[in-house]
Amino acid sequence: MLKNAILELTRIVQDVALIETPERQVEFIVDSISHVIAVDVCTLYRQNYKGEMEMLATHGLSSVHPLIIPPQKGLVGLVARSRHPINLDNAPTHPEFHYVPNCGEGVFKGFCGVPLVSHGDVIGVLVVQRYEALKLNDLDEAFLVTISSQLALLVSRLAFKEAVYLDNSISANGVSGSAGLGIGQVHLCLSAGLNSIVDKHCDDVEAELDKWKRLIVLAQIELRREQSSLGDKLSQDVSSIFDVYLKMLEDPSLINKVEQEIREGFCMMSALNLSIKYFTEVFRNIDDPYLRARGEDMQHLGNKLFDVWLQNQHQKIEPELVFDSPVVLVGTQISASDFTLVPLNKLAGIVSYEGSALSHTAIMANALGVPAVLGTDVLRGIRQKDSIIVDGNSGQVILRPLDSVLNEYRHLMARAIDFGLKLEELSDLPSVTQDGTRIELMTNSGLQIDILPGLKKGAEGVGLYRTEIPFMVRQSFPTEDEQIEDYRKVLKAYTGKPVYMRTLDIGGDKQLPYFPITGEENPALGWRGIRFTLDNIQLMMTQVRAMMRSAEGTDQLHILLPMVSSSIELDRFITLLDDAYQQLQDEGFIISRPKVGVMVEVPAAISQLHLWKDKIDFISIGSNDLSQYLLALDRNNARVANRFSLVHPAVIHEISRIVRIAGKHQIPLSLCGEMAAHPVAVLLLIGMGMRRLSMSSAKLLRIKWLIRSVTVQQAEQFLQRTLTMQHADDIYDDGVTLLNELGLTDLLN
Ligand code: PEP
Ligand code: MG
Repeated sequence: MLKNAILELTRIVQDVALIETPERQVEFIVDSISHVIAVDVCTLYRQNYKGEMEMLATHGLSSVHPLIIPPQKGLVGLVARSRHPINLDNAPTHPEFHYVPNCGEGVFKGFCGVPLVSHGDVIGVLVVQRYEALKLNDLDEAFLVTISSQLALLVSRLAFKEAVYLDNSISANGVSGSAGLGIGQVHLCLSAGLNSIVDKHCDDVEAELDKWKRLIVLAQIELRREQSSLGDKLSQDVSSIFDVYLKMLEDPSLINKVEQEIREGFCMMSALNLSIKYFTEVFRNIDDPYLRARGEDMQHLGNKLFDVWLQNQHQKIEPELVFDSPVVLVGTQISASDFTLVPLNKLAGIVSYEGSALSHTAIMANALGVPAVLGTDVLRGIRQKDSIIVDGNSGQVILRPLDSVLNEYRHLMARAIDFGLKLEELSDLPSVTQDGTRIELMTNSGLQIDILPGLKKGAEGVGLYRTEIPFMVRQSFPTEDEQIEDYRKVLKAYTGKPVYMRTLDIGGDKQLPYFPITGEENPALGWRGIRFTLDNIQLMMTQVRAMMRSAEGTDQLHILLPMVSSSIELDRFITLLDDAYQQLQDEGFIISRPKVGVMVEVPAAISQLHLWKDKIDFISIGSNDLSQYLLALDRNNARVANRFSLVHPAVIHEISRIVRIAGKHQIPLSLCGEMAAHPVAVLLLIGMGMRRLSMSSAKLLRIKWLIRSVTVQQAEQFLQRTLTMQHADDIYDDGVTLLNELGLTDLLN
């Protein structure tokens, strides 16, 4: 009988974390359970897309062939249907018992099955069995229920076995790293893999230290070669990812760690392997998703060093790869170096088994406009040159697609191209509704690569310039002059047009690699945005000076303050701004005092807007954070993501209130969150009276098309209908009907 369930559970969960593949993890779990609660059999089933229960791992049954139980069949089916544990002393006498031949099951009597549930759906069943005709005791049953909830998380991430897929086609889901559709042939990026090497000791420490120094130089040469091979194809942002690797190579902590391992007696490659593992773990254990993503960079660098070394050892000249048709790069990780393998016009997509939307892989793919799906299940049986579809819109990948699926995607891509061309024609046309109301459209920017596309698509200014992005791609806080260089590029590109520059908005889910904010139990409610910069007034002062100096001689600059929740913050900023303004004037700069506004993203700001009306020149609604805080829903948390909606009734009602307050006090208003690019939300915003929107450049023309197709009256009527609706889904459906009626169905794709 199980004595200390919690201890056992903790031990299993901790041990599982050390096992590398999910397949081995589930095997370990079934073995551990059978040992801990002393049963003869423990089997884990997972429901496949046909509703069958597929055996994933077993301890005690014969597993020579894939065991599949038909839908709803047997006691396993009963557990799944009833959605509660079924604990029996003599299973074969139960009317629902289903005998599965050839697995040796017939001799077991005691049975307990527990459902595995993910997001409210049964996704599998965990079964224990014993020879003896004996039920599980309460403690053991409770243990099984508890461990099943852990197991459900693991199982939901496991790839299905190939065998159950029709015609060998496999699909896998991940997160979208970059939008768009791509079809191509697989090119596997199989780095030799530093972690595949076996630890070896050395005899000559000095010789190994020399090798390490030589390797650093060789890797620097190779990285610089790759960086320059990109030529003008890439912007500074993308090329700076190579700078990150180069900087990491200069970092004394890495260099010293490897040297230390060598001095401990390890040969150079083993020392490197141990050091990269060490630093990767350090990053991986950080709660913050951005910094966790930096662990990937460390691994990329380790593999790069390994490849460079191998090539140098064997004087191996890699054959020049020739790509005559579109290519999709697939690998555990895709590094910046991998991007350089394929000419840009042949790069159809990126798929990586690891990685997040915040990784450098995603940043590069976005910058290059290549669809990318990251963090997918491993695509088993994948071969070089297999055909593959990358759906960066939905985060899905289809390997060896059926012809019908391939045709469907080709059709979708062709339509997307036609649609893009049709939208291009709108670039120079005004953004006015059918009944002549002007809706100003601006673009959100941050990466340099984003600046020009917005302009080409007719943006009337930059509605949100996220200054933290140029901060993020650096290795230390940029100086005043470095910032001026960045800001001038935007202001110059948009000469004569307004640019809303937001002061540094870090904290929460946005972190700087060189200034991690850690140790916060609730980072979204912690040291973020203006709270951080007012506590680091030297950073704010430098930034505000840089902003004003970069705008010298223009009246384009609008300073936008993130996360403002109290008058104290606003007052302290205004004092600082006045001080900076005075300093610059004393230094002889000819500058005008910029306009100042707040982002409305902390709900507390809404009820104070009337108090701030004389201190601010404008407000901009940050609907991403505003929705997150109104709904108390973290959008980056996959467990609650399905509860999130941009058209949630609470969000609609609150934004309507902000529009009314801004109207009453004549405060110029805009909205710069994701809602501005969501067609149903935009209909509602127009209905409310919002007349200025800012969005990513990729969405500008789609929204202009919508604006040019609707009347304000139609939008107002839609808004009125939704104000009495209780469910976001109903609001969304009503919006979809209106979009269809307006002939805007393409906007829904
Ligand atoms: C927002 O919160 O809506 C916003 C535009 O800011 P960010 O997404 O950068 O937090
Ligand atoms: Mg925000």
